[in-house]
Amino acid sequence: MEKPVYLDYSATTPVHPEVLETMLPFFNEKFGNASSIHAKGKEARLAIEDARQKVARLINADTEEIIFTSGGTEADNLAIMGTVGISGDLGNHIVITNIEHHAVFETCNYLEKKGFDVTFVPVEPDGIVDVEKVREAITDETILVSVIYANNEIGTLQPVKEIANIALEFGIYSHTDAVQAIGRSHIDVEELGVDMLSLTAHKFYGPKGIGALYIRQGSQIAPMIYGGGQERGIRSGTESVPLMVGFGKAAEVAMKDMDEEIKRLKPLRDKLVKGITSNIDGVIVNGNMEKRLPNNANVCFEGVALEKPGPKEKPEDYFSMSWELNKHGICASAGAACTAAGVTPSHVLIALGRTVEQTQGALRFSLGKWTTEEDIDKTLEELPRLVDRLRQEKKEQLKNK
Ligand SMILES: *Cc1c(COP(=O)(O)O)cnc(C)c1O
Repeated sequence: MEKPVYLDYSATTPVHPEVLETMLPFFNEKFGNASSIHAKGKEARLAIEDARQKVARLINADTEEIIFTSGGTEADNLAIMGTVGISGDLGNHIVITNIEHHAVFETCNYLEKKGFDVTFVPVEPDGIVDVEKVREAITDETILVSVIYANNEIGTLQPVKEIANIALEFGIYSHTDAVQAIGRSHIDVEELGVDMLSLTAHKFYGPKGIGALYIRQGSQIAPMIYGGGQERGIRSGTESVPLMVGFGKAAEVAMKDMDEEIKRLKPLRDKLVKGITSNIDGVIVNGNMEKRLPNNANVCFEGVALEKPGPKEKPEDYFSMSWELNKHGICASAGAACTAAGVTPSHVLIALGRTVEQTQGALRFSLGKWTTEEDIDKTLEELPRLVDRLRQEKKEQLKNK
């Protein structure tokens, strides 16, 4: 069978061959526990600190400002819960946007249930939050403002620098989930001025299960995981040396390759969008086309969401654009997530004003290192056929009602 076209680099990426090669010795020969004071421990400790330095360099942070976590989700949780944990009775209010990743969204939903106040500032129709609306949301009770740097579904870039400035004015913490932006956009924490920033390795050619929270020097947060005191006491547990080493290598490779990647991917992405909008009617392009990641496109096709008869057990039992496109040999994400309870429309697309039916017809294309012009051409060849077929079937369905 022909290899599928992979246009889902925002879901995850393959591990870069150089990254894998760097990691391998740390599974066997270099197996030491970094807390041991003998030679094997020292070897592991040095490797971890070298990796930490590489991750720090990628975002222009100091080495001591990087706390390794199990990924982006844990980094987001740590930023929020760690701020709550240290704030005592300073306040019980958090400001986020209505297009945050679930790792931020659900943590805040949990806090709301526990009696916290959360303001979900709505973004503008182009998927970018108005800085003044963030400012207006801040009260005497606010302890933290958290705004996603680049949205994972629609790729829009938020005015994080301006928001960090406002937080500074009010003397409260600022956090940004920069998971999608790392390796796809230049991130400099000094220039941004945020107190905390989340990153993860597997979205930019590193391994899954490793990420980090940048915590600005002088900004204190409470630990979420207690134990042996690793990671400056903020994140205890024996370090995963191979994953950390892989993360460090991925950061090094990203620094070297990023500019080239951006230059190569943006025209490919633009070709994809142009091809879709000029060959298919009833298309909505989601999110600001200028202020967005170079590798992301998100579009809604109108009038395609079919009703699927029969029992609903597996994700495939529900209508999904991702599943339909997959039949054409192309992997991309849908605008709705299948969960045990059924299909949840994307809160991000709803925030932009899309209807539930429109979200069912959404596709997110995310390009990456191994995306070729042929991949884009094949997608542009298959999509009109797919959309046509679905619209025909939909008409039949409506007629037979
Ligand atoms: C993928 C992602 C996360 C979660 O990171 P994991 O390492 O998979 O836990 C958080 N935020 C954003 C924006 C993401 O895209």
